[in-house]
Amino acid sequence: MISMDNEERRKFGRVKMTFPVEFGSSDSLKGETFDLSGSGLRVITKFSLTCFQKMKIYLNLPPCFSADPEKAIGIKANGCAVWSKKMKNQKYMSGVNFLEIVPEDFEMLQKIIHSDKMTSKISTKKPEFKISREIHSCNMYAIDLTVGCEHKCLYCHFSTIKKNEWQKENFCATEVIPVDLAPLYRLKQMPDSVVYLSPSSDAFAPLARDLTHELLSYMLPKGVIFTISTKAIIPQKTIKLLKKYKHLIEGIAVGITNLDKDRNALLEPGVPPANERIEHLKELVEIGCPVGIRMDPIFPLVDDNDENLEKIIKKTVKNGIVHLSATYFFSFGKFLKELSKKCELTKSMSMIREKSFPLGGKSFSVPLEYKRSKYLYLNDICCKHGIKFHTCGCKQMELREEPYSLVCRNLDYYDEKEKNS
Ligand code: SF4
Repeated sequence: MISMDNEERRKFGRVKMTFPVEFGSSDSLKGETFDLSGSGLRVITKFSLTCFQKMKIYLNLPPCFSADPEKAIGIKANGCAVWSKKMKNQKYMSGVNFLEIVPEDFEMLQKIIHSDKMTSKISTKKPEFKISREIHSCNMYAIDLTVGCEHKCLYCHFSTIKKNEWQKENFCATEVIPVDLAPLYRLKQMPDSVVYLSPSSDAFAPLARDLTHELLSYMLPKGVIFTISTKAIIPQKTIKLLKKYKHLIEGIAVGITNLDKDRNALLEPGVPPANERIEHLKELVEIGCPVGIRMDPIFPLVDDNDENLEKIIKKTVKNGIVHLSATYFFSFGKFLKELSKKCELTKSMSMIREKSFPLGGKSFSVPLEYKRSKYLYLNDICCKHGIKFHTCGCKQMELREEPYSLVCRNLDYYDEKEKNS
């Protein structure tokens, strides 16, 4: 029997393949693999798998993969589910690790993964985890847990640029590639200032969230401060962790720009419904961390009507938020061209006509005076509701003289810290 530890698991290549799979012996549970590696598989089942309960796994592989097709009986292993989540289609996706596997079956698995027939589907290399200062994110330390983002927001150039850069150098069948966290454990020094999750992905999108939990579990006990921005629902296990280390959370901002289902389905197809995100705010506020919302990007004439803005602010203030960060859409080059083709956005995109100069580049956005008046309006509503308004100064330096902050983070955290020290 071969057994393996976590370090070994990370070294395995992975292929996207579908095979029937069965779990357990007496009351067997059937499903289909989603992808497969030498260390385990992701599987789709009708019912949820119980995590960390050892079980038998039977992979019903086609005989052509066996050394002796006539006697082929597939692969048998012992393993356990390590995570399981409900999908939109009411089925469950689970991550299953092999705990023990006989050498012949392990060899067969390796052949499948490295088979020439499968070459075009193999993604063996993973991007390495890294911490870097991001000019577009207040020059903070920042970490992405995936290259690419499953939320697939139509306007998101940062995640696409990062994914294209990676795919230029590394052939990869998947659109979103989780990072290899191994280098985290070799870090000699922890970052000495706040770390932002995440500049070009969402730290709580499905493929990122377990890695994010692993990262936070390692870095928070070492005293690292985090600021988090997400459009996803943070899993319960991570909420518990954040609660324990709330003194190290500068702020959590949840992205909510519009309540309209059609708008959200078009622009943010992978993001959970807006009403779920609004409800989620209550849970986050209960942790005891400063929670805000982020309207970013705002599409003119789609998102910035008074009714939509006031409704969101009212609902989210009721759920306990303390700040709002809002920034108008800006874009450039082929990203701008692609969005301009969407007939639902024709009017809105006709407003994206003024050159603007975010830090580190040129782009187009709504006219500055239009932006100025809407931000003032937002600032007024926020004052009325007793919360703080800010916008991202990196994206519009000309707004320096305005009465609100151009740092779209919760800087009150440091005042509080000082007061309590
Ligand atoms: S959630 Fe954020 S990182 Fe992900 S696609 Fe949307 S804007 Fe981009």
